[in-house]
Amino acid sequence: MAVSRRGTDVADLVRRTVEAEPRAVARLISLVENDSPVLREVAAALAPYGGQAQVVGLTGSPGVGKSTSTNALVTSLRAAGKRVGVLAVDPSSPFSGGALLGDRVRMQDHATDPGVFIRSMASRGQLGGLSAAVPQALRVLDAAGCDIVLVETVGVGQAEVEIASLADTTLLVVAPGFGDGIQAAKAGIIEIADIFVVNKADRDGADQVVRDLRYMQSLGGRHSTAGAWRPPIVKTVAARAEGVDDVIAALDKHRSWMDEHGELARRRRVRAAAEIEAIALGTVKLRLGGVHGSAALDAAAARVVDGDTDPYTAADELVARL
Ligand code: GDP
Repeated sequence: MAVSRRGTDVADLVRRTVEAEPRAVARLISLVENDSPVLREVAAALAPYGGQAQVVGLTGSPGVGKSTSTNALVTSLRAAGKRVGVLAVDPSSPFSGGALLGDRVRMQDHATDPGVFIRSMASRGQLGGLSAAVPQALRVLDAAGCDIVLVETVGVGQAEVEIASLADTTLLVVAPGFGDGIQAAKAGIIEIADIFVVNKADRDGADQVVRDLRYMQSLGGRHSTAGAWRPPIVKTVAARAEGVDDVIAALDKHRSWMDEHGELARRRRVRAAAEIEAIALGTVKLRLGGVHGSAALDAAAARVVDGDTDPYTAADELVARL
């Protein structure tokens, strides 16, 4: 029976999503975001449709111009006939839904364009938080035929690094006057950035930011081997859409480089492995704490306390029984 107990016709939703029907796309993202009981069914139904979209992460401190850049990128990509997804992700916000972030994301230009899917996500929802929900939302947008999905995160902390690492290509947006370089270096973002965007190039200090980035790059050293990708530094004035085509050119170049070096496939395998591992560990944990598991766990705990066995042996026995 295609219709599940809760009345969600997953097969129909997926069919309409593949046909890029906006309401079906929105509904499916809600399902995966809220850890719905049909999540597994949705994931299974989406499996054959993945792998087409280039997932691009944009990260950087509030105020550097990420929303403005995203908006300008969408305009350019649409002009080139691409179908675009936008996920605005706020790892620090406990609130879910579009309203809050919706105000932030200045996407009105594209609100009525059927070739653009825009969605906000905050950390409420799935068990594993955003790092679990975002990949599922990406699969939905991928199935909807997006050529490119822009994932915008709001800061340069550890959570942003985690979300950014879900992307095929990561853009770090910085601007003069934000002291971002140091913060980004601390959070490890310099290490994962594939393209640096120095926005607000109309402001004093932009060239200094470029020099700082070059200096930090030179310290890293990981890009010095032959054939390695050396993250380009692109200057933009997003507010006037200047330099946006250079960013798109850099994205294309990175995509080609990844294809040539097997890097796209490698990154995607690493991500899928991490995802499977997280789900498997979650399942194991659930079973250990489940009706039967907890009794077995209690019994094992008592034996360890009584000195009848050691915790390693007890753990091995428990895992073997799963
Ligand atoms: P976000 O918080 O990183 O998403 O930044 P926003 O896109 O909201 O931009 C923050 C502010 O910077 C807004 O007032 C923008 O109009 C402004 N802004 C964005 N891009 C530029 C730019 O290239 N030059 C200048 N001078 N201002 C910009």
